[in-house]
Amino acid sequence: MSDQIAALLLAWYDRHARTLPWRGINDPYRTWVSETMLQQTRVETVISYYERFLNRFPTVTALAEAPEEEVVKLWEGLGYYSRARNLHKGAKQVAETYGGLLPTDVDSLRKISGIGPYTAGAIASIAYRQPVPAVDGNVIRVVSRLAGIRENVGIPSVRRALEAAAGLLIPAERPGDFNQALMDLGSAVCTPGTPACERCPLQAKCDAYAAGDAEDLPVLPRKNPPKVIEYTLCLVFSGDRVLMRQRSESLLHGLWVFPMLEGKLSLRQAPAQIRKQLRLVPEEIVPAGEARHVFTHQIWEMTLLTMQVQEGEKAPAGYRFVTGDEMASLTVPTAVKAAVKVVRDRWQKKLPEQV
Ligand code: SF4
Repeated sequence: MSDQIAALLLAWYDRHARTLPWRGINDPYRTWVSETMLQQTRVETVISYYERFLNRFPTVTALAEAPEEEVVKLWEGLGYYSRARNLHKGAKQVAETYGGLLPTDVDSLRKISGIGPYTAGAIASIAYRQPVPAVDGNVIRVVSRLAGIRENVGIPSVRRALEAAAGLLIPAERPGDFNQALMDLGSAVCTPGTPACERCPLQAKCDAYAAGDAEDLPVLPRKNPPKVIEYTLCLVFSGDRVLMRQRSESLLHGLWVFPMLEGKLSLRQAPAQIRKQLRLVPEEIVPAGEARHVFTHQIWEMTLLTMQVQEGEKAPAGYRFVTGDEMASLTVPTAVKAAVKVVRDRWQKKLPEQV
């Protein structure tokens, strides 16, 4: 049965596989970089980042020797920056422990920073041709439907059963292609909600198709809704500089943002709060729009205010007044891109949009 599934899926993959820059090469480092970038990110977005990254860091050693800021800067706009930091940390580990060559077995791979069970499986199967599973969200969906797993896949024993079922499907020949085919099937055919079973090469072998309950699978753990947090972003100008700080919090750690005061402050409330929290005396406070950014567990709803302080006024502890050139060299998260636009417009002597 599993042989037939592998043959059908590989035949489908041979006809439908997308040509992507990280396919058809046997380089574990490139698989590692691409699989790390592809987590939570669309293929179309990843392609240009992947090419830029590999041009700059063609080997594990080149990545290991680079300063972290440069690695994070190249990641700018891709989000989930801890991926970049862990990849860099992992490259240093591989350079020091394995002379720059990624180990071949899954257990050693999993000990490297930034390599979880999925990425270890992807590297071992794609680059080293080992018949091991690489279970991501797509694979969970396909295998739970195919094998008819109707229990909550968040329960460890169910998850283990699903991984075992995925492992049994993998052929000794072309295990990497098989894993990639499973991922492609999950993203293009066996999609969340209503899958396109009429186009599926595995229809005749699928338990959920036969039972007519594919739409109900997989049974996923209930997620907590993301927490909505309101912030007032203070774009504080001093001459031709704007006030920023490097985040020390785990979310967007090390990235540069503008002062963010909790809550949606009105023009009447803002001066006192800015004096109290930033120890600055702001003048000409002007509304500059609203922005929203959705993270996995949080949603930021931001009110933007521009203001200025006397030139020469000292930046509060932990903050710096930066010029336009300095800001361009810092890594600023997409979450505050609306604020960056307001700052740039002002530097170009345009008036910020009024609310
Ligand atoms: Fe998914 Fe339908 Fe194919 Fe089953 S038949 S694997 S539910 S697309």
